[in-house]
Amino acid sequence: MRFFLASHNKGKRDEVARILAPLGVELVIPEDIDKPYIPPEETGTTFAENAMIKARHGCEWSGLPAIADDSGLCVDALGGAPGVHTARYGGEDLPYHEKMSLLVSELRDVPTEKRGAAYVCSIACVFPDGRTVTAEGTCRGVIGYGESGDGGFGFDPIFYIGGVSMASLTDAQKDAISHRGAALAKFAEKLSEASQ
Ligand code: IMP
Repeated sequence: MRFFLASHNKGKRDEVARILAPLGVELVIPEDIDKPYIPPEETGTTFAENAMIKARHGCEWSGLPAIADDSGLCVDALGGAPGVHTARYGGEDLPYHEKMSLLVSELRDVPTEKRGAAYVCSIACVFPDGRTVTAEGTCRGVIGYGESGDGGFGFDPIFYIGGVSMASLTDAQKDAISHRGAALAKFAEKLSEASQ
């Protein structure tokens, strides 16, 4: 089945595509459709609200069932920030090395046992007939003191699980434990129930 994926984020797109490919899902991205795609404003206060805003807009724009992923990093020592503002942390155009340095420096006085954080991923899917399917996944880890690994994307080089950064994992290892892997596994289950 073909779904529109309402995202310009390549890291996210690659992960959604490879996790859903075994289910026979083919993804159409904004660049595949010959008209300008202007993303909606993410005015929600939760990941779930923003995922639904993007999926509804994507479905109306493309005419296809649309999937959207809204995700981010919630740092315990920062009261859950940057949360839904993760993509804009330190400024939208700040390169990721600098975003990571900024976060590590914000946590410079925080001891190891208080450096917990969670990645959260909310998936929403809207069908042209108005049906919706939603799912959410979480992955807990720790913000490290420096970067390690060159896989993944975004904050993965400073997000550690069991002493290993998310960026040091293979794609399959990341998908097996990640917030996106968890959300998409639940999503796939609900999708197959919805289509029975
Ligand atoms: P969104 O496009 O508003 O959902 O932005 C999500 C942001 O959260 C991304 O731009 C990354 O900074 C961060 N993020 C979400 N998922 C991941 C991940 O799997 N690894 C690293 N960073 C992530």
